[in-house]
Amino acid sequence: MKESTFYLIVYAWIAVAIFIFPVIIRIAAPYGRHTTQKWGKMIDNRVGWILMELPALLVFSIFFLCGTGDRPAITWIFFTLWVFHYVNRTLIFPLRLRTSGKKMPIAIVFMAIGFNFVNGFINGYYLGSIATAAQYPLSYLSDPRFIIGILLFAGGMFINWHADDILIHLRKPGETGYIIPIKGLFRYISCPNHFGEIIEWSGFAMMTWSSPGLAFLVWTFVNLLPRALHHHKWYKDIFPDYPKSRKAIIPFIL
Ligand code: NDP
Repeated sequence: MKESTFYLIVYAWIAVAIFIFPVIIRIAAPYGRHTTQKWGKMIDNRVGWILMELPALLVFSIFFLCGTGDRPAITWIFFTLWVFHYVNRTLIFPLRLRTSGKKMPIAIVFMAIGFNFVNGFINGYYLGSIATAAQYPLSYLSDPRFIIGILLFAGGMFINWHADDILIHLRKPGETGYIIPIKGLFRYISCPNHFGEIIEWSGFAMMTWSSPGLAFLVWTFVNLLPRALHHHKWYKDIFPDYPKSRKAIIPFIL
């Protein structure tokens, strides 16, 4: 593929995210607490999660590993971090969920497969076939973009995993109801898992300093900022005693 065609795809993908943001803000994505039968046929929640996330792991890995570019040492660090995140999200996180008997619409699974396919492709292809040794020499390890980026990635991942862990343990095995979380960053915001995920992919975009990394960050933001706002409203509607000072996704601000 010509580099110019590839970048056209990436910029078009960013444009799509910006274009649909107003829609996603209005319609709560119907999985988890917002699930509705109106979106057609349903699939087991756990199976849905594995299927949705698999392309992000497989497509990214295939395009990186089969890439025709230089694949300098630094790109292997980016590859490892991406795979580390997605092994958890695809193969470990769904098996830990306490959502027995719950379902999600197949339509959501298909949309997420498309989303993860494109993001996996543009990032895997970029790192495997376009990134050059001149762009990522070994000295890039001391570049502020790499250092700040990897710190953001690690910090965001820690916040995300810690929050996911708190949420999973709110229920005893077999339970499916909802409880107000009070530990960790939940003291300040309703959705530290989403907050952490956005920070994590900001770090990836910064350390790769690439338009595919930026595209994935934009999409993560477009997915998760509205989801956090919908969750926050849902908590306030359902729990009259929900902490008044708690924000949705950015401590003390939003
Ligand atoms: P949620 O916070 O909606 O749910 C996570 C899990 O915790 C679910 O099993 C949910 O159960 C359970 N849970 C949540 N709140 C409570 C509560 N108050 N009491 C009891 N159980 C609760 O997370 P998402 O489903 O939105 O996302 C899951 C992960 O995937 C997150 O880490 C998120 O960052 C990531 N993600 C990333 C995206 C991206 O674009 N990069 C897009 C979407 C998600 P139930 O399912 O029954 O509600």
